[in-house]
Amino acid sequence: MDVPTYTSEDAPVPEGTVVIERSSTAQDLGPKLNRTAADVVRFLLTNGEMVTATQSLTDEMIELFASDVGAEIRLVDPGEEQEVELLKMLEFDEEELEEVDEDWPIRPPVITVMGHVDHGKTLLLDRIRSANVVEGEAGGITQHIGAYQISRNGKSITFLDTPGHEAFTAMRARGADATDIVVLVVAADDGVMPQTVEALDHARAAEVPIIVAINKMDREGADPNRVMTQLSERGLVPEEWGGDVIMVPLSAMTGDGVDDLIDNLLLVAEVEDLRADPEGRASGTVLESHLDIGRGPVATVLVEHGTLNVGDPLVSGAAWGRVRALVNDRGERVESASPSTPVQVLGLSDVAEAGDSFIIAPNEKVAGKVADTREHWQRVASFGSAGAPATGGGAKLEDIFKQIQAGEAATLNLIVKADVNGSLEAVVDSLKKRERDEVRLAFVLRGVGGITENDVQLAAASNATILGFNVRPDRKARELAEQEKVEIRTYEIIYKLLEDIENAMLGLLEPEFEEVVTGDAQVREIFRIPRVGAIAGCMVTNGVITRGSKVRFLRDGTIIWKGTIQSLKRFKDDAQEVAAGYECGIGLSDFQDLKEGDIIETYEEREIPRE
Ligand code: GDP
Repeated sequence: MDVPTYTSEDAPVPEGTVVIERSSTAQDLGPKLNRTAADVVRFLLTNGEMVTATQSLTDEMIELFASDVGAEIRLVDPGEEQEVELLKMLEFDEEELEEVDEDWPIRPPVITVMGHVDHGKTLLLDRIRSANVVEGEAGGITQHIGAYQISRNGKSITFLDTPGHEAFTAMRARGADATDIVVLVVAADDGVMPQTVEALDHARAAEVPIIVAINKMDREGADPNRVMTQLSERGLVPEEWGGDVIMVPLSAMTGDGVDDLIDNLLLVAEVEDLRADPEGRASGTVLESHLDIGRGPVATVLVEHGTLNVGDPLVSGAAWGRVRALVNDRGERVESASPSTPVQVLGLSDVAEAGDSFIIAPNEKVAGKVADTREHWQRVASFGSAGAPATGGGAKLEDIFKQIQAGEAATLNLIVKADVNGSLEAVVDSLKKRERDEVRLAFVLRGVGGITENDVQLAAASNATILGFNVRPDRKARELAEQEKVEIRTYEIIYKLLEDIENAMLGLLEPEFEEVVTGDAQVREIFRIPRVGAIAGCMVTNGVITRGSKVRFLRDGTIIWKGTIQSLKRFKDDAQEVAAGYECGIGLSDFQDLKEGDIIETYEEREIPRE
């Protein structure tokens, strides 16, 4: 092969700043700086980097070459330049939306609940919701769509349903500032804890007003004064002590004080004077998104401007479609959604990304074109640095500390699977924040859905550890993982997941209590028996199902419920256990929402010894 020679070494470089896309190849880069691809390749070679002319370059390589030839460059993400053009095509002016007109009507405030794990965020959200459901709502059939709206004295409030600052910040990182007020939950019997402080920092960084909910006031050790003192030390001074922060003592358990919190939220909202224009094409933020087997891609969006209607051509990132149906937080079909209203959107081409904005295009043609162009650029971008699976190099969780100790710069290879896009983003972003110089993280794959055989194969091929958040491996994946010695770790609390990764980096990985699956059964039919409730007619497909054992219900690999088996029957008789290959009836105490095809998985907790 001919060795390329310097042909244009002395040509002057372009004047001014040259815009270069990240992950450009030598072939793209050279000509932009009046050089040949060969110049770039040769230069990098002399600097110890072997690349071909068509291989994507890292930011450092591009910058190194540019500075060598004396050119001034600005690196942009692929598609960034195009994005400005696309927004023009959409006839969308972001700046115009920043302005608020005093003539616009008041809109409901959007609330995010944050705080330390176990301080009662989830219970508080549930309590607020159940105490304020609209009259006549069928017994407990509420749809968790990622957000809900309540109404009090004729005024509405929207609550985002994914508590915690991780999700909040993941959204902000994508440019979504949907939250108007943060409720910081602090347990009165526990006081300010590490995540309380983190949440506080995140809320402050977002410059969002904070209301403190001093929760668990019903507990014996409740000490609201201590909470107020601790918060004052961190600059949140309660109103009664001359500060400007509203602190409401309450109990999410008994409901005491919850109305007071709501009244205060409305008060703060009034001061904030939140307004939006309900006229015109809608735009807003995607809160959550997943693929529904029956309904296709489903996205929950929060409308921020304008009104969203059925039939509108919606575009969000590379996903688009004519809105086929809108479903509200009570599971009802609606024709339209006004500012601050969360709704599920059906009819999109693809799973949208949580935290992305959405816009209604002037027409379908433009919507399709914009989405296609973005998809193209996304492909180009992933082809470069991030998309390639890490092979060779990189280590599993249990080996990472050895590498760090050996003084090597270690890379931890991870495959992350989660139940919905929102939690996936939150997990990945929080993990990224834990990267350090000596330990880098490589995300071999991140995806929504259960852990499959494919994931395990990829993990085996790329020496990766699989992290599952609210998802489980199916049986085949489990068997393959055992065979290939791939570690799968599953979590239901982000905090625990992050703690494990940090401990692994410090060589402190605790012996894990592994949940060993003891049996699984497939639901064939649901029988409803008066006064008894639902009985799931099942076929035991693996292992043994034992009465009283711990159980998880899975739908498409995602955990939908956890509890214990109440009753177990073979035909009409009670049974202690039922083995694989037999049919049985499994009684469900409070979870009645099983469907045919769901998997009932029983498990035990055993300690895994570490060598
Ligand atoms: P999160 O991790 O912040 O979402 O916390 P959860 O809402 O899951 O609550 C953690 C635990 O605290 C659960 O067992 C709740 O039942 C309990 N809890 C939450 N709020 C209260 C409360 O006001 N009083 C009491 N006694 N327990 C509570």
